[in-house]
Amino acid sequence: MGTKGKEIVGVDVKKLIKMLNKAYADEWLAYYQYWVGSQVAVGRMRGIIAGELMEHAQEELKHAQMLTERIITLGGSPLLKPEDLLEETNCGYDAPTDPNTRKLLEQNIKGEQCAITTYKKLLEYVEGKDPITYHLILEILEDEVEHEEDLEAILADMKAPVK
Ligand code: FE
Ligand code: FE
Ligand code: MG
Repeated sequence: MGTKGKEIVGVDVKKLIKMLNKAYADEWLAYYQYWVGSQVAVGRMRGIIAGELMEHAQEELKHAQMLTERIITLGGSPLLKPEDLLEETNCGYDAPTDPNTRKLLEQNIKGEQCAITTYKKLLEYVEGKDPITYHLILEILEDEVEHEEDLEAILADMKAPVK
């Protein structure tokens, strides 16, 4: 990053890189949870749900990419070892050991809710101090809010009485 670009980052850069890496860990685990969930899904509305999970997986991977780019620009390095992902994650990993579509929806809604909380905190940390990171996190947060909404809507459809 250039001299002036660095100058306008008004937060503790080391702490910011650490927070971005924790979110990065969440994104990889969310990616895998969605991806593998879409493979093993069984039960009601399987086609629709597997498709939605796969779409979300691709978006989580895109978030990981966005975070890496910012981490590197700030002079940091993304986590390099898979075991570091589990070490650093905020939201953890919920294995789809029960592949029922309803269970998968519930697990992933929980994950999205954790992601929303995490990004809200990050947003507050950089607000008014690092406009570039703020913009990036806001973009990701918008996607997470949409993800939660999508999954809750499908779950509501699933629970609706058949007429
Ligand atoms: Fe994400
Ligand atoms: Fe998401
Ligand atoms: Mg969606």
